[in-house]
Amino acid sequence: MMTSIAIVWLRRDLRVHDHPALARAAREHDRVVPLFVLDQRLLDGRFASAPRNAFLRGCLAALDGELTARGAGLVVREGAPEDVVPELAAQLGAAEVLWASDVSPFARGRDRQVRTLLEAAGVAATSCPGTYCADIGRPRTKTGKPYTVFTPFWKAQRELPRRAVEDAPAALRLPDGLDRGALPDGPALGDLLTEAICAPGEPAARAALGAWIDGPVDAYGDRHDDLTGGSSALSPHLRWGTISAREVEQRAMDRGSEGAAAFVRQLAWRDFYAHVLLLHPEVARLEFQPRFRALEWDDDPELLAAWQEGRTGYPLVDAGMRQLAATGWMHNRARMVVGSFLTKDLHLDWRAGELWFERLLLDAEPAQNAGNWQWIASTGVDPAPYFRRIFNPVLQQQKFDPDGAYVRRWVPELAEVPLARLAEPWRMTPEEQQAAGCVIGEHYPAPIIDHAHERHVAMDRYRAAAQSD
Ligand SMILES: Cc1cc2nc3c(=O)[nH]c(=O)nc-3n(C[C@H](O)[C@H](O)[C@H](O)COP(=O)(O)OP(=O)(O)OC[C@H]3O[C@@H](n4cnc5c(N)ncnc54)[C@H](O)[C@@H]3O)c2cc1C
Repeated sequence: MMTSIAIVWLRRDLRVHDHPALARAAREHDRVVPLFVLDQRLLDGRFASAPRNAFLRGCLAALDGELTARGAGLVVREGAPEDVVPELAAQLGAAEVLWASDVSPFARGRDRQVRTLLEAAGVAATSCPGTYCADIGRPRTKTGKPYTVFTPFWKAQRELPRRAVEDAPAALRLPDGLDRGALPDGPALGDLLTEAICAPGEPAARAALGAWIDGPVDAYGDRHDDLTGGSSALSPHLRWGTISAREVEQRAMDRGSEGAAAFVRQLAWRDFYAHVLLLHPEVARLEFQPRFRALEWDDDPELLAAWQEGRTGYPLVDAGMRQLAATGWMHNRARMVVGSFLTKDLHLDWRAGELWFERLLLDAEPAQNAGNWQWIASTGVDPAPYFRRIFNPVLQQQKFDPDGAYVRRWVPELAEVPLARLAEPWRMTPEEQQAAGCVIGEHYPAPIIDHAHERHVAMDRYRAAAQSD
């Protein structure tokens, strides 16, 4: 009898547990080729990121370990998948190529081409679930339209059927004599951040998920806004699929606490922004609300650099930006504050912020990054008016970092500044500055803008754009 061979084309689903494509290939074929294609268009493209590339490499090395333990090992090729995947399928005489579907315009265009070429060659091309909690392409409003508001989307998404969480395949076999290729050396892709928010790879992801579900998730409802903890920090693992969103959801549901329910709802935001990008692909580059395509943005490289480097003089903004650079991650509350600051205090284009986040975030990806940037820039699907999303960085700090631990951790120049002055260090008297070892303008910048003034500028610009509609 002929040996039947399947290729599982892995992209950002770098795991063996709860992997529908891998599980199906292992069930239905004699030999399974877990393939990863290093595509320079992604590694060096518009959203290139040395920290994320290094994290990816760590995920691939860990995946190779998981696959080897099951008898196979990762197969690595370099090039455009449109060339590599059909070529390898032909070379091996593969009957089927399977992958987990994705939503970005780039991924969908690429996958369409691969499918066309495979089908023309008589190879089955199977796109499987595995990236989101539910089938995010399905929900429609009563009038048959895609959702653009989270809460009604979430109510529909909750009701969608769920697939069962799949076990990891017990054993996998590669075709005999296959050259597995090799991962590039670590430094070729970039260095891992020494303070990275988490370690790459499925074993680290599963350990983090287990620890989160075992207790901290119960306090999520009350604590998710705590800047120094309180949220799961699972986003890089979800981004790279070293854990599946569906398994995360199921394990939180099984936990059954109120905190776990709040966490499941938050996880649905990820499905929501994927739904939005899938059905409104233009939001990857353009404002969802056409009237705001006329918004006036400034072009000021110095202000942009101050924001990027955490030198704005607003401690919470600077803390967030420095946490991002050091760890490849930023707490959601800080992301909202720095995003509001960029777009509504500095009047810089949200795409500049998106690009910087793509450069540094381990969890960055188009659906979530563009979706959230448009949310904070008030140009996206969020129904709240722009004036409700102009965050006051001083008040935000006082509310969400009440003991100053977050700011002191990430802006050490402010370590000795008294708590009463920590959100507005420029209000320290010269004597207080001396006592704190923090002279404003010397050790820590004076604020680069005046929030109270810029707030009005932003209101005027948004109002003008809205009226131009
Ligand atoms: C300007 C801006 C840019 C952002 N860019 C990204 C990005 O590129 N990638 C990304 O994954 N998230 C992004 N977010 C959303 C959010 O900040 C992160 O998902 C969250 O901080 C990750 O931390 P966590 O894992 O501890 O989240 P938790 O609070 O523990 O939430 C659990 C999971 O739910 C999902 N989730 C939570 N909040 C959101 C949200 N607002 N949107 C989408 N999914 C969410 C994430 O997958 C997260 O890991 C961005 C937010 C803002 C304001």
